[in-house]
Amino acid sequence: MSKETDYILIKELREELDKYAKAYYEDDKPLVEDYIYDEKYHKLVELEEKYPEYITEDSITKRVGGNIKNNFTKVEHEIPMLSLGDIFSKEEVAEFDKKIREKIKNPEYVCELKIDGLAISLKYENGKFIEGSTRGDGKIGENITTNLKQIKDIPKSLDKPLNIEVRGECYMSKKAFVNINKLQEEQGNSTFANPRNAAAGSLRQLDPKVTKQRKLSTFLYYIADYDVLDRTTQVNNLEMLTNLGFSVDSHYKICHSIDEIYAYIDEFTEKRKELPYEIDGIVIKVNDIKMQDELGTTVKVPKWAIAYKFPPEEEETKVLNIEWTVGRTGVVTPTAVMEPVKLAGTVVKRASLHNPDYIKAKDIRVGDIVTLHKAGDIIPEVNNVVLSKRSENSKEYEIPTKCPACNSELTHLNDEVALRCLNPMCNAQIKEGLIHFSSRNAMNITGLGPSMIDKLYEKKLVHDVADIYKLNIEDLLEIDKVKEKTALNLLTSITNSKDNSLEKVLFGLGINHVGSKAAQLLAFHFKTMTNIAEATKEEIVAIDTIGETIADSLVAYFSKEEVKALIDELIDVGVNLTYLGVDLESNDNLPLSNQNVVLTGKLEHLTRNEAKELIVSLGGNVTSSVSKKTNLVVAGKDAGSKLTKANELNIKVISEEELLNISKKELEDGTFNGE
Ligand code: NAD
Repeated sequence: MSKETDYILIKELREELDKYAKAYYEDDKPLVEDYIYDEKYHKLVELEEKYPEYITEDSITKRVGGNIKNNFTKVEHEIPMLSLGDIFSKEEVAEFDKKIREKIKNPEYVCELKIDGLAISLKYENGKFIEGSTRGDGKIGENITTNLKQIKDIPKSLDKPLNIEVRGECYMSKKAFVNINKLQEEQGNSTFANPRNAAAGSLRQLDPKVTKQRKLSTFLYYIADYDVLDRTTQVNNLEMLTNLGFSVDSHYKICHSIDEIYAYIDEFTEKRKELPYEIDGIVIKVNDIKMQDELGTTVKVPKWAIAYKFPPEEEETKVLNIEWTVGRTGVVTPTAVMEPVKLAGTVVKRASLHNPDYIKAKDIRVGDIVTLHKAGDIIPEVNNVVLSKRSENSKEYEIPTKCPACNSELTHLNDEVALRCLNPMCNAQIKEGLIHFSSRNAMNITGLGPSMIDKLYEKKLVHDVADIYKLNIEDLLEIDKVKEKTALNLLTSITNSKDNSLEKVLFGLGINHVGSKAAQLLAFHFKTMTNIAEATKEEIVAIDTIGETIADSLVAYFSKEEVKALIDELIDVGVNLTYLGVDLESNDNLPLSNQNVVLTGKLEHLTRNEAKELIVSLGGNVTSSVSKKTNLVVAGKDAGSKLTKANELNIKVISEEELLNISKKELEDGTFNGE
């Protein structure tokens, strides 16, 4: 290529990368996959190395990507928040090691997981959390203190009156990501491409209540303030952060040789799928802080650390059909039905295409060969169409205009991306509503699953949720293949559900935007269905974390005559409509909520990671050392100094079996809803 053509290419790449970076960092909506961005970025680096005369100061390769939204005030980072250089192969790891060894004899490295979230900085004054910010362009970030205060695992005050600035990553767990996207889809909103974007979008929210609902987490890995604490290594940083009560990812490892680094990379390339949060690589850091200072930084990245990025896991397959299904709220969602293909450990046959805009933007057609990946390592997603493999007679996909279940006209409500069926008598919506009512997180009626509801509905035995309580043995025996024992069990289960606490019924009604957590808060606050039905919007939004969207939806729902009639019917058939639960506000509704838990000793039934995941899923924070802030210690066999310290500090100690029992009880009670 000539110098001129290369110059044009440099300009084009810069423009393209700036566009992608804006969409990614500022709007939290990436236009392309990370690896496509990375390929173009590295092409630009290569060309800039070849023609240093074309380097400009504002090139994306010379600045930390990201900017600030005008909605937030600015925070100046006295100590810049840098990015990391990235590499994609073991050969490049060896090159990094070689460069370090040219400067340092026998370097000690610490390998950490590269958490796929967004960087945050937290400032404490006299031990009080006073300011939190995003990375922004590295020098100036966004002040997101109020939103960060909504995140449970960020300590609002420290045990010691320290002035300290700490840095780390804010992320969304895979489970929270799956739940939020499910909810977004149900509510007709666009879904997040991956947990990183979901975390960024949730943290850079104007309404802190939304941030609170989104269940974000953090891992801290860096102490930026140099004067306060005397630490000499990165591992010291991590230990001190843990002792101060911050959440720290415990998978770090000291490595002395390139082979040890390779082994760490291999281990987590394999294990990443099992982690409860997404990682996009491994960060290799020189452990000694003095040596870090000697090695220094560029304007963009430290020279003492590097990020090894995992290769993208994708597969090609053929789209056989696009199916549309009607949800409980009338949202009609397209799903690609594909030739089965093995992807990241499982066979994939279907992938949600979310909404018509998604299909149009990617121009997905029946018969196309597409590339697939797993968002959040779990959800199969179509990346793009392989245009070179498209058949000549392929036709643009026509978005349906009629409901596949009831044939009513489909519409877009307000600015929604989703198509909706607005027919309240649509069979599919009614059936989905009944399925939702009897589901585990709602009334938990065993035996009343989708296929039984389908049969009862087709026989015209149930039409609304109150009808479920009018069923008798003769009705059930009318259904094909239902024997007396099954029928009796189902009736018992239906009868038992009458005694559920208010929040179960409220959630079961499937009111738009009212998830199980909101239902619990409302039930706890108002105590009876009548009080909720009569509550004003102002009274509802006064509840912490309940926003205007939920309040508007509740007021609109309870103003309908047919709803009033349904509630009367539920009372007539004997369904309890009062709150029977415990004080939610103090325990935040999960058995280990707000508890700092330490694991010690050898476990017999669970691996360390499984135990940690279990504790987190029960609402607890896992910390590595016992301090006054510890609420609970789970002690396995041969527990040593941590157990002794826990006893000294009078901290509650339970066994592994007791931990498993808490989890079992939680599942049996059905209160654990995974949200
Ligand atoms: P990066 O995310 O590749 O790496 C730097 C960041 O890693 C740090 O700022 C920190 O937040 C994070 N990190 C996570 N765990 C860490 C740990 N243990 N120790 C230290 N840091 C840790 O760099 P970046 O500058 O934030 O973003 C560049 C990357 O973002 C690109 O390589 C690309 O993958 C992605 N990107 C994608 C698009 C797109 O359109 N898809 C656009 C722009 C950027």
